[in-house]
Amino acid sequence: MKKTHKIILTEKEMPTHWYNIHSDMPNKTMPLLHPGTKQPIKPEDLAGLFPMELIKQEVSMEQFIEIPEQVQDLYRLWRPSPLVRARNFEKLLDTPAKIYFKNESVSPPGSHKPNTAVPQAYYNYKEGVKKMTTETGAGQWGSALAFATGFFDIGLQVFMVKVSYNQKPYRKSMINIWGADVVASPSGFTESGRKILAQDPGSPGSLGIAISEAVEMAAKDPETKYSLGSVLNHVLLHQTIIGEEAIKQLEKTDDYPDIVIGCFGGGSNFSGISFPFLRDNLLNGNKTRFIAVEPASCPKLTRGKFSYDFGDTVGLTPLIPMYTLGHDFIPPKIHAGGLRYHGAGAIVSQLLKDGLIEAQAVRQGESFEAGIMFARTEGIIPAPETTHAIAQVIKEAKQAREEGVAKTILFNFSGHGLVDMASYDKYFSGALHDYETTEDDIRKSIQKLENISV
Ligand SMILES: *Cc1c(COP(=O)(O)O)cnc(C)c1O
Repeated sequence: MKKTHKIILTEKEMPTHWYNIHSDMPNKTMPLLHPGTKQPIKPEDLAGLFPMELIKQEVSMEQFIEIPEQVQDLYRLWRPSPLVRARNFEKLLDTPAKIYFKNESVSPPGSHKPNTAVPQAYYNYKEGVKKMTTETGAGQWGSALAFATGFFDIGLQVFMVKVSYNQKPYRKSMINIWGADVVASPSGFTESGRKILAQDPGSPGSLGIAISEAVEMAAKDPETKYSLGSVLNHVLLHQTIIGEEAIKQLEKTDDYPDIVIGCFGGGSNFSGISFPFLRDNLLNGNKTRFIAVEPASCPKLTRGKFSYDFGDTVGLTPLIPMYTLGHDFIPPKIHAGGLRYHGAGAIVSQLLKDGLIEAQAVRQGESFEAGIMFARTEGIIPAPETTHAIAQVIKEAKQAREEGVAKTILFNFSGHGLVDMASYDKYFSGALHDYETTEDDIRKSIQKLENISV
């Protein structure tokens, strides 16, 4: 019998709606608070930063939201993405488990990020926006938004975390090719950047700092809007196209996932693959497990505190109810730049608090080892972020072997690592460190949350 590797949907079969899990959550998220008044923010308070349609999605309780025609049309440049049965990887792991991965690396920028970049650029365009700002860690988000804004003739200024700006020069080239500008953060362009540089001229930067810079620039210019690539509800909403497709693809097999796994930065790709399946747990009593995998060096889900905290380092964003390490926590310089964020989105945090999802932490060395095992069996070279999900898949596959159970494991292959070769070189030369984030570092950072009285 011929073995199936890829399960493909036709373009006509592509789902036409995003899934809004907020409508089905047993406990809704606590409100975002205004950073000044500490009162729940009104949708209008966000209008300086985001177009109204995205703000509506941010607070929407509708179960499904239609994907605009123009967005569907651009999605079809790379979607539907393949679902792949990782048969060679299963064999290497000698496991009875069936392992499937949703390959989001097939998008032009190479990750899941354009799933939200395209609709965000589209809604800005619909409201006449001509310029946007954003931050980027490893450069995945900056390049995805540059790709998206290009279609709608919107100018884009990207603030790129300095350590990645130096580690990943080719992401800058991609941003430039798609017509946007990029600068290393902390930069001298904003008050926030200048303030950080005055305290620490050698600052490697962080996503939190870059967000402060991008938000400040947008807030000061009425013509400019801001865009975030993860964390917020509307971003998670757009990513559910991943799981909605995976449901349709698995319907073409006899399988249904017992475990769904995604790596975790701010929560967007994990949520994208998980939420449509989690709907079956919430509404139909299914018992699928959902595991978010974070780096051991930036462990907000496994060792952080559930608290109101700022989304950025300087304290310009609304206060978000979330698992956090504290907004001025600067994560070690790991290569998975997209996972170096101090907090998690409000929805994911509430789901974790309610025990509806789980979290695990993986060390950098272990994640690269897993990524190389995967590349040597399935061929695709994973992004350093994605290797965290793969490391957890290996653990679950071994567990299945010990238990002798043929579980079905589904994970999101969030992106390829073709622009991250310097990290792999470092791994092979033995120069890749396992960074320790000590209890003391975490305690000190979290203690400062007590200053945020709400
Ligand atoms: C940005 C990124 C992540 C982490 O972000 P999430 O919002 O948590 O998904 C993971 N993998 C890749 C390839 C990324 O680009």
